Amino acid sequence: MYNAETISKVLKGELLQHTGAPEIEHIVLDSRKLNFAETSLFIPLVSARRNAHQFIEELYEKGVSNFIVSESIDLQKYPNANVILVKDTLQALHALVAWHRHHFHFPVIGVTGSNGKTIVKEWLYQLLEKDHNIVRSPKSYNSQTGVPLSVWQMKPENDLAIFEAGISQPGEMVNLEKLIKPTIGIFTNIGEAHSEGFLNIRQKINEKLILFMKSDVLIYPKDYLALNECVLNFHNQVGKRETDKAIQLFSWSRKTDADLRIISCDKNTNHTRIDALYKGEAMHINIPFVDEGSIENAINCWALMLYLEIPHATIIDRMDRLGNIAMRLELRQGINNSSIINDSYNSDMGSLSIALEFLQQQRQHPNKTVILSDILQSGKSDFSLYEEVAALLEQKGIQKLVGIGRNISREKRIFQQVLGLKSSFYQSTEEFIQQFNPQDFVQETILVKGARVFQFERIGKLLEHKAHQTILEIDLSAIAHNITQYQALLKPGTKLMGMVKAFSYGSGSFEIANLLQFHGVDYLAVAYADEGVDLRRAGITMPIMVMNPEPSTFDAILQWNLEPEIYSMHLLNRFEEEVRASNKVNYPIHLKLDTGMHRLGFEKKDIPELISQLKEHSAFHVKSIFSHLAASEDPEMDEFTRRQGSLFREMSADLQKALGYPIIRHISNSAGIHRHPELQFDMVRLGIGMYGVDNSADMQAKLKNVSTLKTTVAQVKKLAVGETVGYGGKWTAKVPSVIATVRIGYADGYNRCLSNGKGQMLIHGKLAPVAGVIAMDMLMLDVTHIPEVKVGDVVTVFGEDLPVQQLAAWADTIPYEILTGISQRVKRIYFQE
Ligand SMILES: *Cc1c(COP(=O)(O)O)cnc(C)c1O
Repeated sequence: MYNAETISKVLKGELLQHTGAPEIEHIVLDSRKLNFAETSLFIPLVSARRNAHQFIEELYEKGVSNFIVSESIDLQKYPNANVILVKDTLQALHALVAWHRHHFHFPVIGVTGSNGKTIVKEWLYQLLEKDHNIVRSPKSYNSQTGVPLSVWQMKPENDLAIFEAGISQPGEMVNLEKLIKPTIGIFTNIGEAHSEGFLNIRQKINEKLILFMKSDVLIYPKDYLALNECVLNFHNQVGKRETDKAIQLFSWSRKTDADLRIISCDKNTNHTRIDALYKGEAMHINIPFVDEGSIENAINCWALMLYLEIPHATIIDRMDRLGNIAMRLELRQGINNSSIINDSYNSDMGSLSIALEFLQQQRQHPNKTVILSDILQSGKSDFSLYEEVAALLEQKGIQKLVGIGRNISREKRIFQQVLGLKSSFYQSTEEFIQQFNPQDFVQETILVKGARVFQFERIGKLLEHKAHQTILEIDLSAIAHNITQYQALLKPGTKLMGMVKAFSYGSGSFEIANLLQFHGVDYLAVAYADEGVDLRRAGITMPIMVMNPEPSTFDAILQWNLEPEIYSMHLLNRFEEEVRASNKVNYPIHLKLDTGMHRLGFEKKDIPELISQLKEHSAFHVKSIFSHLAASEDPEMDEFTRRQGSLFREMSADLQKALGYPIIRHISNSAGIHRHPELQFDMVRLGIGMYGVDNSADMQAKLKNVSTLKTTVAQVKKLAVGETVGYGGKWTAKVPSVIATVRIGYADGYNRCLSNGKGQMLIHGKLAPVAGVIAMDMLMLDVTHIPEVKVGDVVTVFGEDLPVQQLAAWADTIPYEILTGISQRVKRIYFQE
């Protein structure tokens, strides 16, 4: 597409080295997301935490030969690379993409707002794909780095673009406006809730409106009063500033006069009829959704279609067929000990490469399989399209491809030429299902990826384990987000140890470790050796500390390269015998010091003996010295915590000095990280915070909810006054009552002490108290006040809207115990936004 010389000129950069490498097609910002090395340009971004220049060497080795840098690098190490020097790499990225955008003159729809951006964007794609060759943001790529990557995908063969823009603080939209330059704007809505980074709601709206500075038209819902006011102001200002024409406004309202006046919304069991007046004419649509969010999103899309003058019959037809949007990638347990990633809503190159990245992160099975439908609407010839797909599969190390559809089958030869890729092809989903043999899918991770028309959810059903209806959902992106929140509090260079003991606080084992490995966490810690062995078996290669190394597991520790915590002289001697017997030297160990917790660890008086033992033998290499804070979260104990800190400083300094080589020191857990920054030393150990729970309200506000425990209603019963519920008849109906039996009991980890009104669950957004005594597998809820409850309804035990802290308070315990107590028979489902 572009060569390095051109790009250098555009950026007014300095072409430090020019070798005439192949033209540049792809931009890479994250070294882990490299697909096409030869034609990629790496732009290393620099933040307070991370300087991506450190990945240049790795990418060069993988075949990348185009780089934009903002600091000097040793050119001799990269003889075949084009290297452009600029002042600031993020600005360069924005400038380059703005220049790219400049080449295209077809309509561009820009979407912003508090909620619904991604749904509106994806629905517009569904509604307009028949008429246009559309380029759009992959998933929710709407940030300072997501938008440039989206806009960079614009190609001459497209004739319509849909991009979303999201901001988190003032000053960001100016950049995104230059990149997107929307000709048509949609402002989906504005939320009153937390405006972090903004003074107030108006400031937030005005900042978002900057996106539409140069747009021809702005579509927006008038019923948000603050939004309406700001839009009218904006209209006046923009009208005056720009010498040419003012922006046209296209408003819609359910309450007052507007361009599109909504008269009524009639909800039936599974669809909603929306009636409206437009230019004096009565019209309607039906959508297959009944929730308020979907209705609002659909009206925003409707307004756009009216603006584009799409015939009314076409609008009705397409609205009626709007589909669900897969907002997230999910990992589920599948047949024959396999894992399934089900992404059966769309297929295009952008979402395929995102899904493949998610697949690649999963290391639990060495074999990876992709079941892929035809890719629709790419604008390329089938041959070059599937050549690109084949290259992607090869690059991601996929062993098996099942191609479904006429087009992909026609190009099967391309895939048969890929080394090490087994492939089979079917003309249709039906044909695949008829010939399906479960034994063809054993102990592998399977990505199911198909366009909607292929109905791959039917394949998902064949492959997935029939789940017990109580499930624990784990949001992997939330864990990644939470890690970033704590990382931001660390001094530069401080390492991070991820605590994955006790089945990662109940949330999973290799699934979480995979994620932490992918996100560059430095160390893992487990409680027992067998937890570490499981992680090694699942392909986790990073260092793992074992906190409770029993002598009976020493051989496993050595065999799997696990690193024991040594907390006593006895343990030191026993382990030394074992290491000697295996003829190893410099085996990594971690020394635990007791600074006040009085659980495990060497005390101050033990240090001289410890030193002389360690100096005598070469069996060990002390990787780290650490201790544990007993009350880091408690302000009243701060004096105690500080004393632990200084004792640790003293003891570790003695050891350090005597051993004479660098040793990592660490003492802080989650609460310690933000409450005692002076105790971060060389590494911190992050546990509960990563899983979305923190004792301090400030920190909690920055975290995202990770785990959601859900169950379903098995039966609903009406009780007359005086009838009782459950074992022992401990609950009596005082008024005519309705009781819902749900599929969770104390064997799932729902503590029996929550019986009889102490615990509550959420149904249809309302709290329902436990009625009677909790049984092993079931319990009853009093839902008398929630008339809409029916069999099959989903019940939230804890999650975003009912925090696990609340449940812990009801049960008179701490969130740690609730999370780790959810039994293994509850299926875990992992997803990524
Ligand atoms: C569990 C544990 C942690 C993590 O504590 P959180 O409060 O969950 O962050 C840190 N260090 C040690 C030794 C632990 O056992």
